[in-house]
Amino acid sequence: MTERTETADEAAEKAGEGGYLVRADRSRCIASGSCVLTEPAVFDQDLTDGFVLLRDPRPGRERRRAVLRAVDGCPAGALSVVEPAGE
Ligand code: SF4
Repeated sequence: MTERTETADEAAEKAGEGGYLVRADRSRCIASGSCVLTEPAVFDQDLTDGFVLLRDPRPGRERRRAVLRAVDGCPAGALSVVEPAGE
């Protein structure tokens, strides 16, 4: 069976009312740890391979600025934010 990738619209729908969704692509992660240093409430690293883990994919508006800093600062482009429709 082939695994189906979630579309951006579906991900945004899951993000709920007014929220945003954080995505992390572990296949692109190079285990730098930058995101964890920037926002440890949202990002973590796997103890075995060092790749990113999401502690909270829906962190809320209070963490938005730090999350966007982490996304911008990821050297591998492995992080992204899916905005709800209309924003
Ligand atoms: S900043 Fe990017 S490359 Fe570094 S651990 Fe986080 S997701 Fe992986």
